[in-house]
Amino acid sequence: MKKKYLMTPGPTPIPPEVALRMAEPIIHHRTPQFQETLGEVLDNLKYFFQTKNDVLLFACSGTGAMEAVAANLLSVGDKVVVVKGGKFGERWAEICQVYGAEVISIDVEWGEAVNPQEIEEKLKSHQSPVTSHQSKPIKAVFTTLCETSTGTLTNIQEIGNIIKNNKAILIVDAISGLGADDLQTDNWNVDVAVAGSQKGLMLPPGLSCVSLSKKAWASMENELPSYYFNFKKYKKVLVKPDTPFTPAISLIIGLRESLRLIRKEGLKNVLARHRQLAAATRAGIQEIGLQLFSKKPSSAVTAVQSPVNINSSKLISIMRDKFGVWIADGQAELKGKLFRIAHLGYIEKFDTIIALSALEMALKEMGYKLELGKAIGAAERVLEGENNA
Ligand SMILES: *Cc1c(COP(=O)(O)O)cnc(C)c1O
Repeated sequence: MKKKYLMTPGPTPIPPEVALRMAEPIIHHRTPQFQETLGEVLDNLKYFFQTKNDVLLFACSGTGAMEAVAANLLSVGDKVVVVKGGKFGERWAEICQVYGAEVISIDVEWGEAVNPQEIEEKLKSHQSPVTSHQSKPIKAVFTTLCETSTGTLTNIQEIGNIIKNNKAILIVDAISGLGADDLQTDNWNVDVAVAGSQKGLMLPPGLSCVSLSKKAWASMENELPSYYFNFKKYKKVLVKPDTPFTPAISLIIGLRESLRLIRKEGLKNVLARHRQLAAATRAGIQEIGLQLFSKKPSSAVTAVQSPVNINSSKLISIMRDKFGVWIADGQAELKGKLFRIAHLGYIEKFDTIIALSALEMALKEMGYKLELGKAIGAAERVLEGENNA
C-alpha cells in the first residue's frame, strides 16, 4: 500500500467535499439550478480576488487565460513591458510576441524579484517628450505574483503604485500565487489578474479566471480578433448569469464548494496558513544545511537548491516512488538542480511535516549527510509558535 501526498505547485490536492460534489450526476447549464451555482461562484470569486469587478471564467488551463488576456487587450505593434525572472515570465513574453506586440523585457536573475523602479524607468523612458512623436507609450506591464519556477514573490503593491497614474495597465499572472500570497487586486491597482483552478483553488486542472478593472475594459480598442475567448461575450451574459458556451459544469460545481471552504476559513486565515507552512518549510530546509533558491520566497512554493552531488530529478523520483510524496523538479535549465515543495491549497501542517520527512529520508538514501528528524523538528517549532500565537 502507498498513500499519495501531492505537494506540487499545481496540480494540488482536492478536498473530499469538493471531489464528492464533482462526482454528482451532471446537470444542464441553461437552467435556474446551474445559474444559482454560477451566481454564487462569481460572487465568491470576487472575494477570492479581493475585487469588486467582475471575474470571467474559462474552460481552459491557466495558460489559455493568459493567451486570452493578450488577444483581448493587445493590438499588433503595442509596446509592452514584461518582467522575465523565470519560466512563467518568459511565457508572458512568448505569448505577447505571438500576438505581435513589441516586448520590452526586464530580465531579472532567476530567484530574484524585480525592482519596481526598473518598471518605472521603462515607463518613463517610453513617454519622454523627445520620443513621443515617434514612439507609442507602453500599453501594459506583464508580471507574475508568484514565479512558480523559482518560488519568488513579486512586490505587486509597489508596482501598482507606480502604474496607478500611468496609462499602462498592470497585468498579473497570479495563477499559483492567488490564495497563498496576498493580492489586493483593487487596492493595489491591479488591472488584470489571472488564476487557475489546479492551484490555490483546490480543484483539478481545467478552469481559469480573469478579473478585469474598468481601466482594463476601457483600454480594449482595436484589439486582435478572437472568438471563443472574446471577453466581451463573457461579460455580456454575466448579468443572467450565464456563459456564452458550455461551461466546465462539474468543475464549476466543485469550485462552488472550494470557494465555500475558503470563505468559511476566511481569506486572511487562508493566507496566514500558507505563510506559516512556507516559514516551517524554509526552517526545515535550512536546518539540514540546504539553501533556498529564492531571495524573496513566495508562500505558495519553496524552491530549494539541490546540494552538490544530489541530482534533484533523482531525489524527487525516490520521494515519489518510494515514499509516495510528490514534489516538483526544477524547470528548464534548473531541471536536476533544484526541487520545489509546494504548500498550496488543501495543505496543512502535517502534510508539510510529511514532505520534510520524506525529503530527509530520500536525501540520506542518496548519501547526503544529515541527522534524521532535524528538518521536521525545525518545522514543528515554527508550527508550534503558530499555535501559541
Ligand atoms: C501553473 C502556472 C501557470 C499555468 O499553467 P497551466 O499549465 O496552463 O495551468 C501559469 N503561470 C504560473 C505562475 C503557474 O504557476
